[in-house]
Amino acid sequence: MASNQFRQIPGVDKLLAEQGMHSLKGMLPHDSLVQIVRDYLDGLRASITGGASCPTIKQMIAAILLEAESLSSLNLTGVINASGVILHTNMGRAPLSDDAMSAIQAAARGYSNLEFSLDTGKRSTRYGHVEKLICRLTGAEAAHVVNNNASAVMLALSALAKRKEVIVSRGQAVEIGGKFRVPDVMKQSGAKLKEVGTTNRTYISDYEEAVSEKTAALLRVHRSNFMTVGFTHDVQLAEMVELASSRGITLIDDLGSGCLIDASQYGLTYEPTVQDSVGAGADVICFSGDKLLGGPQAGIIVGKKVLIDKLKNHPLSRAIRIDKLCLAGLAATLVHYLKGEAAQKIPLWCMISTPLSDLETRATKWANVLGENTTIIDGVSTIGAGSIPGSTLPTKLLAVKPDSKQRLTTMVHLLRTRAPHIIGRIEKDTLLLDPRTVLPGEDDLIVSALQSVR
Ligand SMILES: *Cc1c(COP(=O)(O)O)cnc(C)c1O
Repeated sequence: MASNQFRQIPGVDKLLAEQGMHSLKGMLPHDSLVQIVRDYLDGLRASITGGASCPTIKQMIAAILLEAESLSSLNLTGVINASGVILHTNMGRAPLSDDAMSAIQAAARGYSNLEFSLDTGKRSTRYGHVEKLICRLTGAEAAHVVNNNASAVMLALSALAKRKEVIVSRGQAVEIGGKFRVPDVMKQSGAKLKEVGTTNRTYISDYEEAVSEKTAALLRVHRSNFMTVGFTHDVQLAEMVELASSRGITLIDDLGSGCLIDASQYGLTYEPTVQDSVGAGADVICFSGDKLLGGPQAGIIVGKKVLIDKLKNHPLSRAIRIDKLCLAGLAATLVHYLKGEAAQKIPLWCMISTPLSDLETRATKWANVLGENTTIIDGVSTIGAGSIPGSTLPTKLLAVKPDSKQRLTTMVHLLRTRAPHIIGRIEKDTLLLDPRTVLPGEDDLIVSALQSVR
């Protein structure tokens, strides 16, 4: 039976000569086509070995066409985030400001003074483009930037605590997300984790008792993606700073989100800012560029100059260096803070500060397109990406409740799979679309997509 099936598999050349394959020939060079057909036939042999029967030549051609098309089209594509989760890691976190995008485009298009001083005509460093700006905004003595915050923490531990102990509260030896677990990062960095306290309660005395001549640092990890409630006790950063400085060890603060402005002015829970940590005297502070900062992916490290210099000169720094495009976007984003225009120019803060009445107007416009089965309901938007957990913003949602579950499934599938790829959320057999996370320029796209699935 199986051998009979195998005999039906055509040769590569025979398959390529089929009439149906003509359209492929202008699309990809011959060598690539041969490779795709070979890989397909290999897969076919494996599935026949597994008991499947051989498809027809027509089916084979269709599968090969599909594979060739998917390989040569851009799979990474824009989506419209109507989920109401402002920083969605799976959707690329923070959208960038116009200025940040222009800066990235300019850096991408041609050559730049990335590591070249226009004054002296000599080599300079890429970090010089943002260091002064970061110091001015945060009050820190020195700053360094790398490709993301996970590597920033890794670098700080490697450079400052290798083969020595780092003391962490059990309530903070956590997983941040995407398998970034504090204990694993410490192991990779070569630092030894010494856990103190309990999951819910840690006191300054726990840290005091654990410090020894083997201790290099105290690490504080900001709980950016969960909360502990009830019978809890946390040590204040200032107390940890005092202990660290009295024992001559380093205080490393993994702040996570890296907020630079007062989030409570927009009705969010107050998120400790980078300035707070600098003011409290933390030696080294690490945070993300693409969380509450609202910029491109980056890891920013600020703190005491002697320590930041050690990080800059560490070999790992080269392996995790920030690329020129993110650096350009980061610099432009930071300038918005300097000019005091974050809420007007940075999409993240524009979304957070949108008045409820605007959201209602937009949701109503969408609802009018669909007509029946729709209502505008009160709901909440969240920050996401492990930032300000438990803090939400009131919003107005377009709720679409089709007649049947089947219709809902079809509608959701069509909106997601067809361009412009609209992602909402589903609750109780209802599709919810939140205008807060939809960029204003995307409203027309939503309207026509909704018309097409009506
Ligand atoms: C998000 C986060 C990280 C990881 O930052 P990335 O920029 O995503 O690499 C590390 N620590 C904390 C506390 C975080 O919240």
